[in-house]
Amino acid sequence: MRVGITTTVPLEPIIAGSHIPTDLNNIFITSKDPENYVSRAEVDGFPYNSCSWIKGLYTASIEGKFDAVIGVVRGDCSNTESLLDFLQFRGIKVIPFTYPYDRSRRKMEDELKSFMEVLGSDRDRLSEVIREVDDARRIAWRIDEMTVEDRVSGYENHYYLVNTSDFLGDISRYKDIAIKFINEAERRDRIEYNLRLGYIGVPPIFTDIYQFLENNGVHVVYNEVQRQFSMPFPDSDWIDKYIMYTYPYSVYDRLRDIKNEIRRRKIEGIIHYVQSFCHRQIIDYVIKDSLDIPVLTIEGNRPGKLDERTKIRIESFIDMLL
Ligand code: SF4
Repeated sequence: MRVGITTTVPLEPIIAGSHIPTDLNNIFITSKDPENYVSRAEVDGFPYNSCSWIKGLYTASIEGKFDAVIGVVRGDCSNTESLLDFLQFRGIKVIPFTYPYDRSRRKMEDELKSFMEVLGSDRDRLSEVIREVDDARRIAWRIDEMTVEDRVSGYENHYYLVNTSDFLGDISRYKDIAIKFINEAERRDRIEYNLRLGYIGVPPIFTDIYQFLENNGVHVVYNEVQRQFSMPFPDSDWIDKYIMYTYPYSVYDRLRDIKNEIRRRKIEGIIHYVQSFCHRQIIDYVIKDSLDIPVLTIEGNRPGKLDERTKIRIESFIDMLL
């Protein structure tokens, strides 16, 4: 089957079932006209005051003619349950996946067992697939380290890490492209910058934010959630990786990771991106209050370029830190 995924889900059972995963977020945001994806969902009945990512996922599911859509109904977004209901209404097969609230290994094993049954995963192929996925993730981790070493830009980091959710639907192709990129990046001069910032929160709906930051002398050395998509836990087995993965769980798990990386990557300030109408906005204050470096919260609604007001806020933040 060609399966759409609404966010990062365990990839190994999908590939071991000989299915091809496609991250619907990436289809939506890299399409020629993402705004049209949002409007189409509104025409079909989605409320104006709901998250644009969900509307984009809906249109990507409809237009992509997938055999099924896998949606995370605990651990990502409360809107996904309604999205899956709507897709079912439109005749699309849906497969729910749940990250256990308490990060219990036993519950995760049970969930993966039923996930593999639904997907018809071949258990004999599983160890080979685990190795294959791990190999590709190791390449993505190298790109992440090269960002810390000032050899890879924040946008490039975002691109290679965000695509670890589905490895472009073809692990070998991802590996080839990423290895070629590493070889080129190793030969380049180190990046020059005035300020090291970290980016936290869901990936941006703004299409030019990294470019804008780079033009203002900022090196983004940390993309929190995108890095988490790459399961950066080399010493854990494949199941534990999905338990250590911070994004589906409590903000305190995320904060531990963010604080470690602020220290390790020598980050001077944080940009916290929040999406309009997203439940995750509620914990913005907890994040701001828990970090001991300056945090600028910016909000995006519809896909497109940064608006002038947000640009001015980012510029003032940069001026304050320099
Ligand atoms: S940005 Fe928030 S509301 Fe929108 S899909 Fe992601 S988690 Fe859900």
